[in-house]
Amino acid sequence: MIDLQKISVEELPLVGPSYAKKLQKLGIITVWDLFHYVPTRFLDFSKTTTIANLQIDEVATIHGTITSFVNTYTKTGKTMQIVTITDDTGKIDAIWFNQIYLSNTFKKGLSVSFAGKLTFMGHKRAIMAPEYEIMKDGVDQIHTGGLIPIYAETAGISSKWIRRKTFDAWNAFKDSFEEFLPAKTLEKYNLLDYQTAIHDSHFPTSLEKFEIAKQRLAFNEVLSLHIQNIKRKKEWENNRIESKLKIDNLKIKNFIKNLDFQLTDSQIKVIKEIMEDLEKNIPMNRLLEGDVGSGKTIVAAIAMYGVFVSGKKSVLMSPTQILAEQHFQTLNKLFGKKLKIGIFTATKKDIGDFDILVGTHALLNIDMKNVALIVIDEQHKFGVEQKNTLVKKSIAPHILIMTATPIPRTVALTFFGDLELSTLDELPKGRGKIITWIVAETKRKGAFDWIHDQIKKEKVQAYIVCPLIEVSDKETLLEVKAASHEYEKLKHEFKDLKVGLIHGKLKSQEKEEIIAQFKNGQIDVLVSTSVVEVGIDIPNATIMVIEGAERFGLASLHQLRGRVGRGTKKSYCLLLTENESEKTKIRLNALKETRSGFELAEIDLSLRGPGEIYGSRQSGVPELKIADWNDIGLIKNTREVANLMVQ
Ligand code: ADP
Ligand code: MG
Repeated sequence: MIDLQKISVEELPLVGPSYAKKLQKLGIITVWDLFHYVPTRFLDFSKTTTIANLQIDEVATIHGTITSFVNTYTKTGKTMQIVTITDDTGKIDAIWFNQIYLSNTFKKGLSVSFAGKLTFMGHKRAIMAPEYEIMKDGVDQIHTGGLIPIYAETAGISSKWIRRKTFDAWNAFKDSFEEFLPAKTLEKYNLLDYQTAIHDSHFPTSLEKFEIAKQRLAFNEVLSLHIQNIKRKKEWENNRIESKLKIDNLKIKNFIKNLDFQLTDSQIKVIKEIMEDLEKNIPMNRLLEGDVGSGKTIVAAIAMYGVFVSGKKSVLMSPTQILAEQHFQTLNKLFGKKLKIGIFTATKKDIGDFDILVGTHALLNIDMKNVALIVIDEQHKFGVEQKNTLVKKSIAPHILIMTATPIPRTVALTFFGDLELSTLDELPKGRGKIITWIVAETKRKGAFDWIHDQIKKEKVQAYIVCPLIEVSDKETLLEVKAASHEYEKLKHEFKDLKVGLIHGKLKSQEKEEIIAQFKNGQIDVLVSTSVVEVGIDIPNATIMVIEGAERFGLASLHQLRGRVGRGTKKSYCLLLTENESEKTKIRLNALKETRSGFELAEIDLSLRGPGEIYGSRQSGVPELKIADWNDIGLIKNTREVANLMVQ
């Protein structure tokens, strides 16, 4: 049996490195990927008729012979190609604009198949730019006459091209799709066999058949995620802790009793889950999912304290220097002189004989022996590989991964199914409300006047975030420009306030300084790019302004808004938007209605069309190619099957 996942698309006829590179943009690297690149829709050319029977506005396929090809000009100077085809019942023109190369394709006397819609061109009936193919003996008709698959395209790769390649590949490799599910399973879940599913997902004879085929491929997709998870989990469980921790629960209780605040019920529950893990001889591998502001840091701190009282060390790794610095300060405040907190970032290296070491990924370079617990904060900023490096460096330590991207439970169980899951789904008591407003461009001036007055009257502070476009994980130079521009403007408008600017192009020391100034109130208004997104905790900042809010996904907006509402004061989030599309409205309104990140994540999921490529910065929800995260039944069924199969 050929393993199509090992065959590069470059091995297909007429696919060279340049096509391979373009295909890679679509996520297609192997022949297997090509087969699993399912169409986004179909053109229905299944009605085949004669030229005389063509109806105006009807979409149909006709067969005929080319009886004339004319290349001419329109009044506006465009070139126009008129191809006349004739069958036993009459003749009709097909018309293209600016496609001179067609003269190479359409030679008189050729037998062709055209598919498209009949319309009027002036007073004459004609088909505009139909799909076409030349009919030859022994060559299958794939672009006309039937349901014609349309794929998500990229520059230089058309649907027609993908269709052709997939069809040829099917003829070459159709025997490689051997069924791997037991007949009983197919029957139980009403699944199509694998081979037919591949065929029908590209070349179905009806849309129903396509849906049935897609269901089978979706089943495969989620099933393989579960299987990978189960395998990874089993592998992890082979690890052993060198010397088991013995946690002194009384000390922990006392520590908790002496905190300035009372832990939430969810914090208590999660701490208990972690403490139980820490005493086992299989290392912990746990994901702590917490909503923004739900208090993950203190949970991590108590876990690390538990390790400390058992005589061992912990490491806390942050995605940015600013956050590492913030954690360093928080922990010092929390533990006073009792624990020695070290810091290790690109600029600060104070390790000493630490009990807890805080740092950025610079930590990856140091020796991790004797570390019993590694906490990774804001996990989505770290690659899995980085985590693996860390784990290998220390001797199978306990791992706690924290993420502030609430993702629906079904997704977490599927995508992070090798991890144990803890959830903080409750905010500390006494949090002030965050009032969220959607502000149209016309109300902008009024909004800024109001912000100015609030800052003056209430002695609060504000963030103003100016993204340009949500393109990638990285802040772009344009974004920096947009923020700088806004900063200059505001400095002018808010003459009696201190306005600051922060963005990723600043040196880390400058950044730290600005954050420190904002923290101690020397800056009233902090203009920034989206660098403030994660983690920063400044309770006196109660106003968050997000420019161009329509450019962010829900998860990012929720993250940004989570920078305010951290104290007991009433907080505000102003979503400035110029775009009033229906989708934007739904998204922004969802944000207005709820503060729960978990609820928003569910909404986010339901707003996405299946297979939609999504501005995924911090959406937290990984892409599925075929299956749909909303399909809870599928996720459950595949998990059952995965468990059976691995056994
Ligand atoms: P996140 O979960 O977003 O990382 P943090 O850990 O930064 O949130 O916590 C947000 C703020 O809430 C911090 O100032 C923290 O001291 C405070 N906090 C955490 N837990 C509680 C609690 N149970 N009651 C009151 N305040 C809390
Ligand atoms: Mg945090």
